[in-house]
Amino acid sequence: MFDKILIANRGEIALRVIRACREMGIQSVAVHSTADADAMHVRMADESVCIGPPSGTHSYLSIPAIISACEITGAQAIHPGYGFLSENANFVQIVEDHGLTFIGPTAEHIRVMGDKITAKDTMKDLGVPCVPGSDGGVPDLETAKKIGEDIGYPVIIKATAGGGGRGMKVAQTAADMEQAFMTARAEGKAAFGNDEVYIEKYLTTPRHIEIQVFGDGKGKAVHLGERDCSLQRRHQKVFEEAPGPCITPEERARIGKTCAEAVAKINYIGAGTIEFLYEKGEFYFIEMNTRLQVEHPVTESIFGVDLVREQIRVAEGLPMSFSQDDLEINGHSIEVRINAEKLPNFSPCPGRITQYHAPGGLGVRIDSALYDGYSIPPYYDSLIGKLIVHGRDRPEALARLSRALGELIVDGVDTTVPLFHALLEEKDIHTGEYNIHWLEHWLETNLGNA
Ligand code: ADP
Repeated sequence: MFDKILIANRGEIALRVIRACREMGIQSVAVHSTADADAMHVRMADESVCIGPPSGTHSYLSIPAIISACEITGAQAIHPGYGFLSENANFVQIVEDHGLTFIGPTAEHIRVMGDKITAKDTMKDLGVPCVPGSDGGVPDLETAKKIGEDIGYPVIIKATAGGGGRGMKVAQTAADMEQAFMTARAEGKAAFGNDEVYIEKYLTTPRHIEIQVFGDGKGKAVHLGERDCSLQRRHQKVFEEAPGPCITPEERARIGKTCAEAVAKINYIGAGTIEFLYEKGEFYFIEMNTRLQVEHPVTESIFGVDLVREQIRVAEGLPMSFSQDDLEINGHSIEVRINAEKLPNFSPCPGRITQYHAPGGLGVRIDSALYDGYSIPPYYDSLIGKLIVHGRDRPEALARLSRALGELIVDGVDTTVPLFHALLEEKDIHTGEYNIHWLEHWLETNLGNA
């Protein structure tokens, strides 16, 4: 059993892990940059270590600093949260070489899923349905044009190393191919140091449906249903819910079983998410995230499980505390991402919080590292909190979301809260009729946001 876990992250996700540790009687170690000396995760952990200057590259991404912090404090395991080093296979290898445990999948699984072409090939072999497209990487423009003709426009050109919505370009017609191909390549090279790209059929009105999976690393795995994360801006999720409003119990059971079997076959360990686009009753694999997702709380709410606790258990070599038959959906859950951003352009808005009041009451959960007087530093992600609600059904969850948003006070900086108030006025949000383009259209029409 672990006595002490170091959390290689900051913000709300660091708090999330500290909370699980405390409930399990495990000591927690926070690491922080000089800009985060007053951060909530530092205050809440049992111990803390300063690991560098404000820039993420020299602090939260500094592998030597994090390994040293483990050695100084005697932490036996590292939880990476999401982002930063969570999907860095090299980091996992170094952690293991130092006799420490990485709370997450193996370096090999991260490597396979981190390269989108290899991930797609692997999933195809495991029987998971994929988007039609090129067979692996596309070497040059000539080949790209030929593939475009073969699968039919529109197509999307994706950097195999891409992530966070970067390194993807759509070609509506053959005339767009040259620019789209070159831009996707250049973005892949600039952001990820890899200019290999591949091509997929561009689905015009899909929903983003992702399946939560969990494995024990010994050939056993379960699925915890789907999350619908179709409401996106620039490929970034802003509103997530579970279960998906358009998914039937039969569809869930079928795709869930396929995913659980796929990860069981590769002895996957810990939490993972298999992302799909869903159109006209068909699922198309797009990528697998080998970590805990930002939106994991909606799954926790409807299944009544603690995914971080399970991650820690399987990392210790313990069995999962539930089987597929134990997992039953109870009600409906929605999460909204509260970012320190100024509408209509979503420009980052760091600064001092002059007043903060968190909502409460039945079915309301806030995962946030904010407090009165906190100064949001300008160096990191603009996510400052997640509001998660749970209700007996979708209408109750929506009513609760509206009520809880009304109670929330975040003064001193601009946030995305007004966006959610406005969205809750929309009929399509209440009927659940939206796809991955709905929000972009809405923003354009209502906020003049391009
Ligand atoms: P990232 O790793 O950058 O998150 P993904 O492959 O997960 O990239 O895709 C992110 C988003 O891009 C999807 O949720 C969807 O909105 C859009 N997208 C990706 N592939 C396609 C496709 N073949 N057709 C239509 N939209 C797509």
